[in-house]
Amino acid sequence: MNLYLGVDVGSVTTKYALVNEEKKVLSSCYLKTSGDPITALKEGLTLIKRHFPSDGEIRGVGTTGSARHLAGVVVGADVVKNEITAHAVAAITLIPEVRTIFEIGGQDSKLIIIRNRVVEDFAMNTICAAGTGSFLEHQADRLRIPIEEFGKLAFEARQSVRIAGRCTVFAESDMIHKQQLGFGKPEIIKGLCEALVRNFINNLATGKNIEVPIVFQGGVAANQGIVRAFKDFFQGKKTIIVPEEHGIMGAWGVAILSMGHERESTVFQGFDVIHKNFENRSFTCEDCPNNCEIVILKEEEKIKALWGSRCGKWVPDLVERKLVETEDVLLEYSEK
Ligand code: SF4
Repeated sequence: MNLYLGVDVGSVTTKYALVNEEKKVLSSCYLKTSGDPITALKEGLTLIKRHFPSDGEIRGVGTTGSARHLAGVVVGADVVKNEITAHAVAAITLIPEVRTIFEIGGQDSKLIIIRNRVVEDFAMNTICAAGTGSFLEHQADRLRIPIEEFGKLAFEARQSVRIAGRCTVFAESDMIHKQQLGFGKPEIIKGLCEALVRNFINNLATGKNIEVPIVFQGGVAANQGIVRAFKDFFQGKKTIIVPEEHGIMGAWGVAILSMGHERESTVFQGFDVIHKNFENRSFTCEDCPNNCEIVILKEEEKIKALWGSRCGKWVPDLVERKLVETEDVLLEYSEK
């Protein structure tokens, strides 16, 4: 059986999707990246291996997400695509008539406009944390509410409390102020969900024509409080669909994209990657005012990939010499 693997590595979560030739998801996983994408990649691969069909063979691998290049080297990717394309492909596959995609993940949010099954426009918010899943998680933690119950609690609110959602600092101090005024947790949570939705619309949707159906995806789509806040914002006039696969849409989309790769065979590194040792290092190149941060990925002591040079001067041999020099200087320094 021909299979395709999609990997979406974000700064907060790492997702895998294993897909067959009919683009159906056979297995998937959703893990915390916890600041260590390489470990998250290995853990995800371990889970995928556990449910891997005995007659299955990986024919293509795709990676997406903010650590897509790193994931592409570690796992071995035939295609490396940005999140906009990956999310759009999955949504169009699932709901061909989709016109708008709302995607809210752990660290960023996106609005994608689709017309005739093609991305026509998009906007992405990578700067303001107030409209993301990590902000919600932080506030849930502060209010001592499990994040899974956060959305449900919003439904218990008897009224809405307006929370300033322009930025995390204002939102948090406004929430504390509203608590001090005696408002209950359900009201504050409902207010927070509405603030996040206003933030999303103001930052990403201004001047854009939001046509239906809207597909809402990303980890935050699991939060019923946010779904209802979106529906309320549009006064129930716009259809918002939350797919069952909302958390793994990026991984699913890039797995589908890997089906079209043009190599003779996949560059998938195999499940042995789980047992390999990888090490990440970096240094700042001071050879010109650009001061590029050169990131080095080593696999079992061998340089596997390099990133960050704007001029391309850093090749493995040169980096190896630089690392030896740096180590010599450090040794000399520590011996003094
Ligand atoms: S890598 Fe190239 S562009 Fe970047 S700082 Fe060094 S010399 Fe300049």
